[in-house]
Amino acid sequence: MEYIYGPVSSWRLGSSLGIDLLSQRHRICTFDCIYCQLGKGKRFASSRKVYVPTHKIIKELEMVSLPQPINYLTLSGRGEPTLAENLGETITAIKAIRKEPVAVLTNASLITNDKVRAELSLADFVSVKLDASSEESFELLNKPAPGIKFAQIRQGIKQFKKEYGGIFGLQIMFIAQNKDNVSELAELAFELNPDEVQINTPLRPCPIKPLSKEEISMIKGYFKGLNVVSVYDRTPKEIEPINAEDTLRRRGKIEIP
Ligand code: SF4
Repeated sequence: MEYIYGPVSSWRLGSSLGIDLLSQRHRICTFDCIYCQLGKGKRFASSRKVYVPTHKIIKELEMVSLPQPINYLTLSGRGEPTLAENLGETITAIKAIRKEPVAVLTNASLITNDKVRAELSLADFVSVKLDASSEESFELLNKPAPGIKFAQIRQGIKQFKKEYGGIFGLQIMFIAQNKDNVSELAELAFELNPDEVQINTPLRPCPIKPLSKEEISMIKGYFKGLNVVSVYDRTPKEIEPINAEDTLRRRGKIEIP
């Protein structure tokens, strides 16, 4: 398989079959987060293009034989999936041949774009990442491509929430650099009112240390009243991937030379 990986046990989605619309050797992303678990990105794109034609993804999906049922087909992989110009076209094509719901994990960098929001709206579950509560912490944590601003992303997410009819998740990565901003981030979460707040900390290998279970538990307290789940709450189920090595590579668990 060139574009499909997993299935993996996801703490956010249960059993999930990954689809990588970018499928490049190195990460393609609008951000360069200090905790990124995918290693160094060779490219730093902020404009959209087709990386893998939709028909190639669909051909693989038609061929795939899964050892067990899955909960979601998830558009994620080595970078930011909204950079793929055929995101919406692919979601529509997947839904024509598969019965499982489709999820997208996005860093929301392009969510101010009307077309991107319309394409994301085709998915059943959209998990939007927001780690910062100010322009300054956004620059420090996510190191965005030039021209991408926190205030615009915040506005874009609010707009998306108004338009979207599916399940809306808000993912926040907590590390030492933003744990003191928890009140501001919780305030933002209450303002956005997601169906689920997903509290993360980098448990996969990366240059930044994860917060402890106790610290994450304390952070969760600030979100009381919202539906909150943390990366420490769910025990991953044993799932056999189609190709174990490729799956680990796409999820940042094996370094790419
Ligand atoms: S948004 Fe995701 S893929 Fe992009 S740099 Fe950040 S952690 Fe890595």
